[in-house]
Amino acid sequence: MTPQNLPQERRLLTEIPGPRSRELLERKLSAVPGGVGTTLPVFVTRAGGGVVEDVDGNSLIDFGSGIAVTSVGNAAPRVVERVRHQVGEFTHTCFMVTPYESYVEVCERLNALTPGDHEKRTFLVNSGAEAVENAVKVARHATGRQAVVVFDHGYHGRTLLTMTLTAKNMPYKHRFGPYAPEVYRMPMAYPFRWPTGPENCATEAAAQAIDQITKQIGAENVAAVVIEPIQGEGGFVVPARGFLGLIADFCRENGIVFIADEVQTGFARTGHLFACEDEGIVPDIICTAKGIAGGLPLAGVTGRAELMDAVHVGGLGGTYGGNPLACEAALAVLETIEREGLVERARRIGEIMLPRLRALAGRHDLIGDVRGRGAMIAIELVKPGTKEPDPAATAAIARRCHAEGLIVLTAGTYGNVLRFLPPLVIPDHLLEEGLTLLEKAFSAHITAVQGG
Ligand SMILES: *Cc1c(COP(=O)(O)O)cnc(C)c1O
Repeated sequence: MTPQNLPQERRLLTEIPGPRSRELLERKLSAVPGGVGTTLPVFVTRAGGGVVEDVDGNSLIDFGSGIAVTSVGNAAPRVVERVRHQVGEFTHTCFMVTPYESYVEVCERLNALTPGDHEKRTFLVNSGAEAVENAVKVARHATGRQAVVVFDHGYHGRTLLTMTLTAKNMPYKHRFGPYAPEVYRMPMAYPFRWPTGPENCATEAAAQAIDQITKQIGAENVAAVVIEPIQGEGGFVVPARGFLGLIADFCRENGIVFIADEVQTGFARTGHLFACEDEGIVPDIICTAKGIAGGLPLAGVTGRAELMDAVHVGGLGGTYGGNPLACEAALAVLETIEREGLVERARRIGEIMLPRLRALAGRHDLIGDVRGRGAMIAIELVKPGTKEPDPAATAAIARRCHAEGLIVLTAGTYGNVLRFLPPLVIPDHLLEEGLTLLEKAFSAHITAVQGG
């Protein structure tokens, strides 16, 4: 299953992080700016299947996939094989100078696999932020309009434009202004936090957004709406059913480019190849990255041919975009998703996780909401009996999980969401063991709080 025959087991030989990792952390702190944070400072030597091994010989259960990147597994066999072969042939030419077939093939596959059977074009860049930024460039160019609409709790990257599109000040924007102009933020259909309740959330949030767009910007001035079909960093907010469709309809009626940021949700993660499929949404442009290439840096911008072809020759590109190693990896990822039935597997992971998390929520009123789709699942922590976020408990429970050898990530505008993104190839026994560790972390936290 893993190329290095990595044992699929949790193994703690030292405390976490161990002595070798702590030494390396010291070196990191004197060599790397503190601004580049670390969730869990265990230094990695190998990873694959559902585990990450560290320099102290510990083996941790992976519920993070490097933030939804290694969905097909780390060092996944087909990825390794194709990249190994390619690295001995050529490593770079720059596609804009002398092209190669694998780039074109990745684009053909994305054109065929993304939602909608209209004529499409794709080009490749290096990161999710670069994909979103380029999607906005295309939309502005094609429409001749400037305004870009985004939503509360949205996350789109760290470059000037995408940081501006991102909702959360700390840590993404704080003191990094001035921000890019012509970006407008609208209410998000966040069922758990919608003031009048989840039933009214989709229609009311859409009506408010549409009203504000119409009154404050003018629909005819809007180039694009950019939205994540399930919000990632914002806390795995699954928009109330119907909201995305209402926004997409409004866009279609007003010549606004509907851009789906599927950087985190794409490539089988949510139990569909792309999350938009769940509600039959057909975006005009779809941005992909993270899970696209098994860990090699790659991102895609796929859109309607008439929008994408509007841009003049030389207007799009970049030195490394669609690097040949990354393209081989992407082709291997698509093959792996298909051959190993990973779309189905993501659904199955959700079916295993959700009932156990709901049962946990039944036992602990610290958990206000359990949500997500497929292998993109989260729990939101609140002060018991309220909806007041509890970021301190969230951080404390994440730390307990880490200490026991379970990699979990936090998220959310209020820092009160534990999110789970296991590799889709994680064996069931590790998935179950990880959930058991999480349950124990909750019990230990409650005991500690009550005891203190
Ligand atoms: C991670 C992420 C990005 C940014 O991707 P990078 O590769 O880190 O630039 C953009 N949008 C979403 C939804 C993401 O999750």
